[in-house]
Amino acid sequence: MEKVDQLIHAKWIITCEENNRILENHAMAIKGGKIHAILPDNEARQKFQADAEHHYAAHAVTPGFINSHTHLSMNLFRGLADDLELMDWLNNYIWPAEGKWVSHELVYDGSLLAMAEMIRCGTTCYNDMYFFLGATAQATELAGMRGHIGMTIIDVPTAWAKTTEEYFAKAIEFYQQYKNSGLVTPTLAPHSTYTVSIENLERAKRLADDYGLKINIHLQEAPSEIEQSMAKHKKRPLQRLHEIGMVSPDLIAIHMTQINDADFEILQETRPNIVHCPESNMKLVSGSCPVEKLSQLGINVALGTDGAASNNDLDMFGEMRTAAFLGKVIANDPKAVSAEKTLKMATINGAKALGIDAVTGSLEAGKSADFIAINMDHVETQPVYHPVSQLVYATPRCQVTDVWVAGKQLLKNRELLTLNEKELLEKAQAWRKKIKS
Ligand SMILES: [Zn+2]
Repeated sequence: MEKVDQLIHAKWIITCEENNRILENHAMAIKGGKIHAILPDNEARQKFQADAEHHYAAHAVTPGFINSHTHLSMNLFRGLADDLELMDWLNNYIWPAEGKWVSHELVYDGSLLAMAEMIRCGTTCYNDMYFFLGATAQATELAGMRGHIGMTIIDVPTAWAKTTEEYFAKAIEFYQQYKNSGLVTPTLAPHSTYTVSIENLERAKRLADDYGLKINIHLQEAPSEIEQSMAKHKKRPLQRLHEIGMVSPDLIAIHMTQINDADFEILQETRPNIVHCPESNMKLVSGSCPVEKLSQLGINVALGTDGAASNNDLDMFGEMRTAAFLGKVIANDPKAVSAEKTLKMATINGAKALGIDAVTGSLEAGKSADFIAINMDHVETQPVYHPVSQLVYATPRCQVTDVWVAGKQLLKNRELLTLNEKELLEKAQAWRKKIKS
């Protein structure tokens, strides 16, 4: 008998690998934080001796979700300003609140609150963009999640940095500190083409090239962004980025709700990754990303919630359902954005966008043991004809029972193992009192 750390027995293992295998009554052997083997239950019992066994007899086990666009600490601004247009929301509510309150302490507490919410809905990895990066990194290490932390560049002074020089200096400092740290990965995040000059975007690109960093940017989010760019530069934002060579497979273009024929040509030629945030786009009436058309062109589309101030939750189940339904409406085709395609947007496509698909995003031997168990034995999800349909179209997030990252358990029977829920709730209430005053 071969020794392994854990044996995970499951009713269904939904792999999200290339051939979309759904395995019934199988087991996953975990060793050294990685998936060592996936095989039929009875064979696993004969072959492996495990230090611990977990029985998910009525559960679907899937890769952990990858939330490909977040502003974690904005959980503390959830519900502060709703029912507004994007620029009104940003200029008159969100940026003033951030100007007044953003600090190391707020980012740390807000990030932990967001991580508690994400873990409880089955998210194991996030791709964030904010300020006070060290606070988010510390929170990530405490929570045990996989975190991609966007080093923001913006031509606006904030409590984090006053000048362009300071933004770049802080990005480099953060990169040096976290470049080789297990679960934390630094990325570069120039905010958008309307808040960063072309010179600073070029400088960001040089930095990303030098250090091998992915670039995240909000791009063509709403019609007003296109109008502003046309009036000021006589060019669309995507075109401007293309001219400085920033549009490539190393770019993570967030939103892309406004795509014309010329944009499609650029996208097809340069193949960046696109992060679709349907609920935030719908709430702000920014537009909608043509997911089906992009995926037919072979362009990688991942899924994100955006911040809790424009969603207003970090629920990847809700986001999947919305993405599938909206995708069908936009394509005018009920076959578009299928359940299977949608689940991949929330898992392996996110890993591809972040450049970590060799590490996570699907359940395959050799990859990190980042997985979740969802109990399907509830009236909301019985009977199960097709587990993937059930997950995307009918399953509420509260049916996630267990969450693992790199072979470490973060959620057990819906209880957080790395975070103190009571303490987080007290902190959230204390922040509400301060921010509301
Ligand atoms: Zn955003």
